[in-house]
Amino acid sequence: MTVAAVPRPYQNYVYAYPHKTSYRPLTPRPALADLWRNQARHALSLYLHIPFCEVRCGFCNLFTRVGAPDRLTGRYLDALDRQAHAVREALGERPASRFATAAFGGGTPTYLAAHELERLCDIAERVMGADLRAIPLSVEASPATATADRLAVLAARGTTRLSLGVQSFVDAEARAAVRPQHRTDVEAALGRIRDAGIPVLNIDLIYGIDGQTESSWRQSLDAALYWRPEEIYLYPLYVRPLTGLGRNIDPAVSEQDWDIQRLSRYREGRDRLLAEGYEQISMRMFRRIDAPPQGPDDYACQTDGMIGLGCGARSYTSTMHYSFDYAVSMREVRSIIDTYTTTTDFTHAVVGRAVDAEEARRRHLLQSLLQAQGLALAGYRLRFGSDPGRDFADQLGLLADRGWLEADADRLRLTPLGLAYSDAIGPEFFSPAVRSAMAAYELR
Ligand code: SF4
Repeated sequence: MTVAAVPRPYQNYVYAYPHKTSYRPLTPRPALADLWRNQARHALSLYLHIPFCEVRCGFCNLFTRVGAPDRLTGRYLDALDRQAHAVREALGERPASRFATAAFGGGTPTYLAAHELERLCDIAERVMGADLRAIPLSVEASPATATADRLAVLAARGTTRLSLGVQSFVDAEARAAVRPQHRTDVEAALGRIRDAGIPVLNIDLIYGIDGQTESSWRQSLDAALYWRPEEIYLYPLYVRPLTGLGRNIDPAVSEQDWDIQRLSRYREGRDRLLAEGYEQISMRMFRRIDAPPQGPDDYACQTDGMIGLGCGARSYTSTMHYSFDYAVSMREVRSIIDTYTTTTDFTHAVVGRAVDAEEARRRHLLQSLLQAQGLALAGYRLRFGSDPGRDFADQLGLLADRGWLEADADRLRLTPLGLAYSDAIGPEFFSPAVRSAMAAYELR
């Protein structure tokens, strides 16, 4: 048997499929009321996107801008309110829509002042009808914006999870990742979050930063573990086009070394967290075994719909994924936000991609297989009436040949080695059409 060469481990983080760079302007623009007419709405997810940050981190390609001059946050919330009303009307009264989870992401949602966060919660509750105190509500924050007054609002309004982007507790590494911050400020923010009593604290860390060593990585892990966060995400560093992070070393030589370095840091981080009482949920995510449950667990990301509000948010029906325009460069992001804040008609989807039955199978498989618990065969068969072993025979065969996949009667699951290579596995399941749309996308 010939085993194909092992691919590079860090190719594409598949947090959503199809990727936004495969979306295109929709012509004609479909009415939201039509898109949602026959959709199940008993367990939707609500996502509100706040595209503002205090700084632009060197590794970040998210849709966000630095600062918000001329009362931009207020105008943005005005637009969000208009969009929420339009979406709510498009969903209609029957069948009643019910939200099973909610999240405020960004950007940095806590860039908003405390009174603006109140308004954001009001939009989610009063306009969209999400019962924030009864469902899991996750909010992202940065150390400088995790202030006591903002955290008090978020805690009182029902936040169950606060995710803090720390990246590194070593000041020199934070600078190298172009996220200037001091450990003392990070520690103070963590203290305020714990004081606020939000049940789940998540800390994001990054490995693969220039100058990071086994010892400095251990320092960050130790510092994070001191707080016994309920969740820790370990992200490999990616250097992406149009972001601030440039690497001035010979790519032909360094890329391989960098892969080796990142794989080592990944293993060290994983082993440390497993030894400290954490369970691995995916390549990036670890949850403390005794962490409190996150409320009713009836939202399934593979199948249920998502309503995204804000100009960087995606929405998913079972047959269409849509959003607004997407960009990374500062100038383009600003212009898209300006357009959003002056938009009065939110009744139609603007940019998106139809998801047919074949793409739905790929999405289901990717979002299950890249989790440590793997793909439940019965659920797949029930939903699609076919067998994943037949639908993806070549790709799954290759994974098994590499020792990355194991199967039992109920599940397909990545091995520990396979999980480490999650970012190489994901792209292998992209359809040719999505692949070519992503390749043709002109990043701006
Ligand atoms: S990593 Fe987070 S804080 Fe940094 S620029 Fe991106 S969204 Fe903003």
